[in-house]
Amino acid sequence: MSDKSSYMIWFDGDLVPWNEAKVHVLTHTLHYGLGVFEGIRAYECHDGRPAIFRLMDHINRLYSSARIGQVKIPFSKEDLRKAIFKVLIVNKLKEAYIRPIAFIGDGVMGVNPKDNPIRLAIAAYPWGAYLGDEGLTKGIRAKISSFTRMHVNTHMTKAKICGNYVNSVMAKLEVTSLGFDEALMLDTEGYVSEGSGENIFIVRNGVLKTPPLTSILEGITRNTAVEIATDEGIKVIHERFTRDELYIADEAFFTGTAAEITPIREVDGRPIGDGKPGEITKRLQQSFFDIVRGKDDNYIKWLDFIPW
Ligand SMILES: *Cc1c(COP(=O)(O)O)cnc(C)c1O
Repeated sequence: MSDKSSYMIWFDGDLVPWNEAKVHVLTHTLHYGLGVFEGIRAYECHDGRPAIFRLMDHINRLYSSARIGQVKIPFSKEDLRKAIFKVLIVNKLKEAYIRPIAFIGDGVMGVNPKDNPIRLAIAAYPWGAYLGDEGLTKGIRAKISSFTRMHVNTHMTKAKICGNYVNSVMAKLEVTSLGFDEALMLDTEGYVSEGSGENIFIVRNGVLKTPPLTSILEGITRNTAVEIATDEGIKVIHERFTRDELYIADEAFFTGTAAEITPIREVDGRPIGDGKPGEITKRLQQSFFDIVRGKDDNYIKWLDFIPW
């Protein structure tokens, strides 16, 4: 952490030093998990200008998550946008992972948070490839977790609600302890749902398939991959599929802000295709990295250039 201690964190409207961005142990969200967050990335473009990828989509989703969780964020979307820019500028970060979180502060201790204050913090720091540089180029090894992806009517799967991630952490701990890189979860009916923090795609006979927006988080990178593929003339089907359909896929990959587009080379010890990143996966990955770094004018609409 020492390397990050010089950074400032935006907290309830002020910039505070990294080591002073603290909360009370009776913070409501710490006990019960009702809080909402986002994961956003800024990239330094090919011309040296830094830009945030699909910033308003992330801000809109944070407010949607808050609406689902009935967390009333005491700042406007525009306040949040300006605050995110400020955090990057003051910390001189051209490439960063950005983590806004809205949570319920201390006050009453029962599960009904009533009038407890809603607090908002934004941290940003450098973060490379989530599943490793080698994962990006050679693909990762995934395993289907024994933990089922939470039921749509137990947890709200479309919201990035803090407590939802107990499910993800359990699955991730399980499969990494067995030597795998990432966990894949099945939905409550046994169909493939998503990774611990990524959406999944498979490719069969040149056609992309991804689970529909039922038990999954509505990923912005998922939507990006769908749009790129469609624009490149690749058909995309939104349909549930089984684990055996995944086993016989030609290619598979994960999408997520943290994971970007990461090829899956193996599931449950079985190679996917020939056990290497597939052609369509590599093509989409290349397009994705060109887009986030501003090399493709057709998608410049997705970049919010930081007023550096
Ligand atoms: C955040 C997240 C994703 C990916 O969403 P992006 O908008 O692409 O970052 C997928 N699944 C889960 C469970 C997530 O939390």
